[in-house]
Amino acid sequence: MGEKPVPIKMSQAVRDLAVDKIKKLRGDDPLLCFSCQDNNWELAPCVVKSPIHVRPLHEHSHSYLMVMVVCSTCGNTIFFNAHKLGIADNSGNVEGIDNNG
Ligand SMILES: [Zn+2]
Repeated sequence: MGEKPVPIKMSQAVRDLAVDKIKKLRGDDPLLCFSCQDNNWELAPCVVKSPIHVRPLHEHSHSYLMVMVVCSTCGNTIFFNAHKLGIADNSGNVEGIDNNG
């Protein structure tokens, strides 16, 4: 049987780290939404897995931990790889995970 999806909630420290790393990617340029052109982003509280497998496609299928950034104006959503941001290790563990919230 498949495992139940468990929300992977980030601690405030990890959220701050993710926001900091994403901001540094752009230098001084604000990250503008390519849908509405606003700079009004919000980091979702949980890390998500992509792609989501509702059943095993094959034995070696992989999901990647992603940080979800949502435009507060229009809802456009972009994803950053949590490993690339340095908040998840190669075993898929996210530092500072807060499972109590
Ligand atoms: Zn937008």
